[in-house]
Amino acid sequence: MDSTHQTIRSIYNLALTEQQGYKWLKELCSMGPRLSGSDQATASLLHFKKKIDSLGFESTLQSVTVPKWVRGAQETAWIVREGKKVEDLAITALGGSVATPNNGLIAGLVEISSFEQLDSLNLEGKIAFYNIPMDPTYISTGFAYGNAVKQRWAGAIEASKRGAVGVVIRSLSSSINKYPHTGSMSYEEGTKKIPAAALSTFHAELLSKELRKNPALKLKMNMACRWYDSVESYNLIADLKGSERPEELILVSGHFDSWDLGTGAHDDGAGSMHALESLYLYQKLSLPHKRTLRLVFYMNEEFGLSGAKAYAKMSQAKKLKHVIAIESDGGGFTPKGFSIQSSKEMVERVKTYRDYFEPYGIYQFASGGSGADISQLGSDNKLLIGLRPDNHRYFEVHHSALDNIKAVNARELTMGSAALTALIYLLDRDDVCFNCD
Ligand SMILES: [Zn+2]
Repeated sequence: MDSTHQTIRSIYNLALTEQQGYKWLKELCSMGPRLSGSDQATASLLHFKKKIDSLGFESTLQSVTVPKWVRGAQETAWIVREGKKVEDLAITALGGSVATPNNGLIAGLVEISSFEQLDSLNLEGKIAFYNIPMDPTYISTGFAYGNAVKQRWAGAIEASKRGAVGVVIRSLSSSINKYPHTGSMSYEEGTKKIPAAALSTFHAELLSKELRKNPALKLKMNMACRWYDSVESYNLIADLKGSERPEELILVSGHFDSWDLGTGAHDDGAGSMHALESLYLYQKLSLPHKRTLRLVFYMNEEFGLSGAKAYAKMSQAKKLKHVIAIESDGGGFTPKGFSIQSSKEMVERVKTYRDYFEPYGIYQFASGGSGADISQLGSDNKLLIGLRPDNHRYFEVHHSALDNIKAVNARELTMGSAALTALIYLLDRDDVCFNCD
């Protein structure tokens, strides 16, 4: 075993022995959800700032203005047949939706199975029911999600333009169960804002079946969500100073905010703890690093990336030199590889590390997108890398009440932190970055 293999082994040994990131994640989740704009999100961040300071990192807060949307009372929905309530449906307001009227909304339904169909349907006075499943034949559930997510972010706009009074979508979930999945939606200037919600996949299938039997049935839905004025929150930044080129930054990051139905254990508590644990392992093992290792917890990825945008703006104003930026926002499942957003040559250089990772089950080194937050830094002359965990189970829990600590396995999470740490070690040692030499 050469010394590099030995160093990487020592990273994994310490990570797996202590599982420190998992302990932090457990603590983070015990504080509740971290919906952007909520007091709880900021309180949890400040709690972690204290912890990070006590570890001896230099941490600072960057003020970020974030939107504030509050769900209000638990949403309800049921099927109405011939004037009578016949079946409760599990429903959740989409993030950013307006409420229904106080006494709820009741209307007939039109089922939509593709966006191409829209122009041939009469949605006037109806609730548009988008029932577009994630395609199960994709090996990457991320691609399946990407192909089905339009119903969530554009569904209300397209339906409202055609006279609909409300929207329900099929939850973006890769499994059939009774948990609805939320996520951000959007409106557009000049188009009436109509309430939009997601039904659990189980209930979307049930509603579809019932509609086929009885096209005249109606849906009653009640939602009390509302918008408030934007509030101040923060990004958290912590540095471990480099020995030779401290002005050059290797950024490692996750987004701190989560949805409110679960506690954001996978999305993106896991990524945040991956990033923190990487710095921790570096420090505890006294690993050499020429550049400054910078941890960023971004606030508000879910509601429009305000933290990442504010950070990128500050970086530009201060002419900060990010030579490498890494993000973990694909959950805390077993890491399988890295997605590399850079020049062809850089991608090829990172691929030469395959041998070092093989003993740890990491084989994927693909050219592709890195992460929504770090992409705000711009991809020109940069090396942007996203951690790619196994994603077969990710969209079962994503943005739902199931995204809680029980869904995270301590060893799987730890393997992600160790992989990021090993990757940073190799990149810094070999000066794999633009303008490094
Ligand atoms: Zn996320």
